[in-house]
Parts: sequence; structure tokens; C-alpha cells
Amino acid sequence: MSVSINTIGIVGAGQMGNGIAHVCAAAGINVMLNDMSEDRINSALATINGNMARQVAKGAMTEEQRHDALGRITAAKSFDDLSPCDLVIEAATENEEVKRNIFVALCRALPPATLLSTNTSSISITRLAAATNRPEKFIGIHFMNPVPVMQLVELIRGIATEDATFEAARNFITRLGKTFTVSEDFPAFIVNRILLPMINEAVYTLYEGVGSVESIDTAMRLGANHPMGPLQLADFIGLDTCLSVMQVLHDGLADSKYRPCPLLVKYVEAGWLGRKTKRGFYDYRGEKPVPTR
Ligand code: NAD
Repeated sequence: MSVSINTIGIVGAGQMGNGIAHVCAAAGINVMLNDMSEDRINSALATINGNMARQVAKGAMTEEQRHDALGRITAAKSFDDLSPCDLVIEAATENEEVKRNIFVALCRALPPATLLSTNTSSISITRLAAATNRPEKFIGIHFMNPVPVMQLVELIRGIATEDATFEAARNFITRLGKTFTVSEDFPAFIVNRILLPMINEAVYTLYEGVGSVESIDTAMRLGANHPMGPLQLADFIGLDTCLSVMQVLHDGLADSKYRPCPLLVKYVEAGWLGRKTKRGFYDYRGEKPVPTR
């Protein structure tokens, strides 16, 4: 029998962690939110508050629902605080070592029955599960950004994931009103296996001088009917995350077609990570975004 998920823990309260907290709390699930500092947790709570206020203004949520949902989210200052959770979702930085260290520490703090999952965009679920003492209770639950808006969640089993764990994850996603697809555990799964090489190619197109930032984005918006240009989308995802996914594809599939574009590497080295640092392929510090090349 699969466990019913009534309380979840989230480790990493960045763009994705705050979005996952938002949709879970809105669906009546209790949320315990953890990050490296209280400041980061508070800033995530402020973001969720603001995003829910926007939903109220648009009529997508009532003021009472917003109040109740916010009341379901509490700060977890340490992993020990996460012990009442039925499921803990890791949504920290896309770096395998960071994630493995989190899972080792989580396993020490959580009761043996707690389910574990990762929101990784690309890293092997089986390898992350191997860092835990419960690989059969471990699953990839890959939400899309922005979580309150995007309908899809990818579910990825590791080699040891039990059926009961999969069922619990599936019921949890259904309760959130989202649709899931199932992907095998190969680098970057389905969505990012297809999307990120396209974004990387857009950066090569810029790097080789085929087009400017504006030409490339306009071309793909109006020429391929994409809602956002690939460089705009890269800024939205975070250029560090984009680079990490390309590195995982390149390392995991050993095919030169996944070679990260040197210009993407340069932006990340500069700390120009996109919207979250206010500069990437566009500069977001003014009233409207201005291309940086
Ligand atoms: P982000 O940089 O916005 O947030 C990451 C957060 O993790 C930060 O707040 C950081 O302080 C925290 N963190 C780092 N180490 C930690 C630790 N040891 N303990 C607790 N917190 C820690 O990144 P994001 O865009 O939210 O991405 C998070 C995860 O979600 C990544 O694995 C990423 O690949 C995945 N993801 C991202 C997107 C996207 O479009 N950005 C989409 C789907 C999945």
C-alpha cells in the first residue's frame, strides 16, 4: 500500500522550491521549507506571498484560500525539523555533490519510512538514490518552472524504486492537479534531453555571430511559434542550471553534440545567471529587459 502524502519537506527554497511549496500548500498539503539560511527561507516565503496575491488579483484564488495556504507553510531550520514529513523533495542547486551531501544528512535525520525525492533536471536518480539508506523509497519528481503555471511533472524511477513509492508519488502529483509523464532514468530525462540542446544551439548561434540575442529570440518566437525565445527561456531557467544539464548530457552520453557552448560557460563564470541574478542574455536591472549582446 502506498503512503498518503499530507506533509512534505522541501530542501532548497529557490525558484523551484518556492514554486513547489506554493502548489502543495494551495492543494491542502502541509509544507516545511528548508534552505541554507533563514534569510533565504524568508525571501521564499515573501515570493510565495506575492505570487499568491497575484493569483487572488486574477481571481484564480480567494483571499481566504491564500491565507489558509500560507498558514500551511512553515520554516524548517534544520533537517531534524523535517521528521514529521511523509515525503521530502530536494530542490537545491543542480550539483551532484551538493545533492548527495544533502541526502546523506537527510537520511540521518529522518525516520526510515520517509520517502525521498529529487527535483533534479538531469542527474541520475539511481546514483542519487545510492547515496541514501533507502533507494527503494527514492524517486525523481521533476516539476517544471514556474511550478504554479506549468502542467507537467516528470516521474523517474531509479533502478531500486518500489511500486509503492511510485504510487505515492503518482497520487501526490494527481492531488496537485498536475499531469505526469514517466521517463526512464537517462541523463536529463525527456523534457530537458530535448529542450536544453536547443537552448545550447541558440547560444552557439549567438556565439558564432549568426544572429543577435533579439534576432534569435524573435526568430524562434515568430518562426517556430515558441511562447518564449530560447535565450529568454535560458535566463528564466538559470544559466547555471542550463550549463549543468549540458554537462550531465555530455558526460553521461559521451557525444560531442552535447558540448556546452563556451559562451554559456563564460556567462556562468561571470555570475550572469539570468533573471535570478538580474543579468544573463538580457539585463533585467532597468524597467525592461535589454539584450547584453
Ligand atoms: P535556485 O538557484 O533558484 O535555488 C537553489 C536553492 O538551493 C538556493 O536557495 C540555495 O540556497 C539552496 N541550497 C543549495 N545548497 C543547499 C543545501 N545544502 N541545503 C539547503 N538548501 C541548499 O535553483 P532552482 O532553479 O530552484 O533549481 C533547483 C533544482 O530544481 C535544481 O536541481 C534544478 O535543476 C531543478 N529544476 C530547475 C528548473 C528551472 O527551470 N530553474 C526546472 C526544473 C527543475
